[in-house]
Amino acid sequence: MSPSKPNLSNEVLRTLHRLHRQLSDLRARQEQGPRRVRAAQAALAQQQKELAQAQEDLKKLRIAADQKQLQFRANEEKIKDLKRKLMTATSNREYQALRDQIAADDMANSVLADEILETLEQVDQQQKKIAELENKVTLAREKLQAVEKQLAEETPIIAADLKRAEEQLRQTETAIPVEIRDLYQRVVRQRGEDALAAIEGEYCGGCHQHVPINVYVEIKMSHPMFCKACGRLLYLAEDDSSPPARKEQSAAARKEQKEKEVV
Ligand SMILES: [Zn+2]
Repeated sequence: MSPSKPNLSNEVLRTLHRLHRQLSDLRARQEQGPRRVRAAQAALAQQQKELAQAQEDLKKLRIAADQKQLQFRANEEKIKDLKRKLMTATSNREYQALRDQIAADDMANSVLADEILETLEQVDQQQKKIAELENKVTLAREKLQAVEKQLAEETPIIAADLKRAEEQLRQTETAIPVEIRDLYQRVVRQRGEDALAAIEGEYCGGCHQHVPINVYVEIKMSHPMFCKACGRLLYLAEDDSSPPARKEQSAAARKEQKEKEVV
C-alpha cells in the first residue's frame, strides 16, 4: 500500500453517510412540526371564516323573512279595510273597483305567503349548514391542538437527537484525512446527505455512472475516492454488491498492487 495516499476506511465512510442521513432526516422533522401547526391553523381559520359567512347569510335570511311577514300582515290589514269599505260602497262602480282591488291584494299576499314559506325553508337549511360548519370548526380546533401537543412533545426529543448526531458526526469526521477535508466539506455543503454514495454493482449509487475498476480497487484499499461524474465521496456497502467477476478482478488487481509494492 502506498503510504502517500490518504486513508479512510469504508466503515467510517458508511458511518459518515448514516450520520448525514440521520441529520437531514432530523432537520426535516424539525421543520415539519411548525409547518404542520401552521397548516392546521390555516385550516381552522378557513372553517371559522366559512362559519362566519354562513351566520351572516342566516341573519340576512331572517331579516328578509321578518320583512315579508310584516308586509304580509300590513296587506291583510289593508284587505280587511277594503272589505269594510265594500260594505258601505255607494255605487256599483265603487263596489267593483273595491272588489278588483281586494282580488289583486289577495293575489299579492298569496305570492308573498309562498315567498315567506320558501324563505323559512332556507332559514331551516341554513341552520343545518351552520350546525355542520360548527362541527367542522370543532374538529379543526381539535386537530390543531393535537398537532401543537405533538410538536411540544417532539421538539425537545428531536433537538436532543440532533445534538447527539452532530456530536457523533464531529467525532467521526476527525478520521477524515487532512488531504481531502476541504473537498469533503465542500461536497457536504453542496449536497448535504448526498455528499456520499455507496457503490452499487459497478455504479455510483448517487449518479449511477460507471465506477472504473481502478477507483473500486482504491476504495477497497481504504483510499478515499470521489465519483468523477458527480463528486460524491464513494464507499463500499457492508454487503458489497459488486458482481463476482468484479470481485475477482479486484482481487487480482490487489494482488498486482501488492506485488508492485513489494518490488
Ligand atoms: Zn456519482
